[in-house]
Amino acid sequence: MICDSHCHLKHGNKERTEYTPEAIVKIMDEAGIDKTVVFAMCLSSATAIEMAHQAHQAFPDRLIPYAYAIPHISEPAIEPIERAITELGFPGIKIHGGETRLAEYIIDPVFELAARHNVPCLVDFVGNADHCKRIAEAFPKTTLIVAHFGQYLSTNRDLIDRFIHLAERHENLILDTSGVVLPWKITEAVTRIGSDRIAFGIDGPHPYPSLSGYAQEECQKIQALPVTDADKENIYWNTIARVLKLS
Ligand SMILES: [Zn+2]
Repeated sequence: MICDSHCHLKHGNKERTEYTPEAIVKIMDEAGIDKTVVFAMCLSSATAIEMAHQAHQAFPDRLIPYAYAIPHISEPAIEPIERAITELGFPGIKIHGGETRLAEYIIDPVFELAARHNVPCLVDFVGNADHCKRIAEAFPKTTLIVAHFGQYLSTNRDLIDRFIHLAERHENLILDTSGVVLPWKITEAVTRIGSDRIAFGIDGPHPYPSLSGYAQEECQKIQALPVTDADKENIYWNTIARVLKLS
């Protein structure tokens, strides 16, 4: 079983590319992916939540909606996120450090909400390990899924090491393989923190070399790792299934 734990209905790229739920499920079918976590960004929390909700309604067995949190000092965004969790059954929250500030007076109400409802937060720390450390310490019971092992497409081994080190010290951290371009760091993380703390993600859809070709390459990235089949099963499915209580 494969669960892609990181997929965009709307990307944060320059073109703000959007993909329909139908397009995402077609890619999943072609790449052999069973379930996918979906969210949108570059939108208000309320609008992004509505997009994810509609995607889940269209494919309730395939697409898992996360509530996009984009709090601002003047608009904490807590209300729509809490409603998404309690009324619409969203099992997780997505936070992007490039769009919202990770300073405590902005973001901590979102983590407090996550702690209250026992849902994980998928966080892109955009390379800022200090924010990751502060939040991991402040919210020890909240599962933090660290997108891209800390930074998208990073070739900075020292920086990736800092995030793996934080995961060694804080059991509430899980590392997401999307956008990791040094696959041997994933192998190293299996040794250092265990494959049950690593979750597969694609950060798609991406059109190169093709929509399904990109997804297949990301699946193969894990398949090619020199780790046991049990480790691969953890990365592909068991870790995120445990966090999201998937059956
Ligand atoms: Zn992403």
